[in-house]
Amino acid sequence: SPFPIRLAGPVQKGFGRGGKDLGCPTANLPDDSTEEMTAVARTGVYYGYAQVIPPQDKVAEFGKEELAVLPMVMSMGFNPFYDNKKLTAEIHIMHSFQRDFYGYEMRAIVLGYIRPELNYTSREALIDDIDTDKRVALRCLERPGYQKYATDDHFKLE
Ligand code: ADP
Ligand code: MG
Repeated sequence: SPFPIRLAGPVQKGFGRGGKDLGCPTANLPDDSTEEMTAVARTGVYYGYAQVIPPQDKVAEFGKEELAVLPMVMSMGFNPFYDNKKLTAEIHIMHSFQRDFYGYEMRAIVLGYIRPELNYTSREALIDDIDTDKRVALRCLERPGYQKYATDDHFKLE
């Protein structure tokens, strides 16, 4: 298995659909940060941990929880429902952030695969599947073998 896969890079602007259209904002990773992963992993939905690392002068604006290593779901692929021409890697961190963090560094460890990319006949069906993905991710991360990755050296720990 190719896991764990460590990823890091400044959060990029995307089409702005995740939050507005689907109620699920996804922080987009830069292309060059995912080359290693795209070489060894197929497109689809993955789970793992992620952390946002704001610049020093913004840290005070973030709550303790928002600076923590948190469970995430990641989509890597072409988003068939939107028929994107370019591959993107996007991470939804399972926490309700009080603000955006475009340009800030994000670090992640991908630990497993959930499902392939699918197309949907409706937005509602896609939203349903995203909800399932989040539940699956949280259940998977309960496995005792995974806890150690939340304190991996890849993350910035207090
Ligand atoms: P875009 O297409 O620009 O990625 P989205 O609608 O997917 O737009 O929103 C993503 C942005 O929302 C992220 O870059 C980040 O700044 C912000 N955001 C807020 N909460 C979260 C979260 N829980 N997970 C990921 N990004 C979040
Ligand atoms: Mg996004």
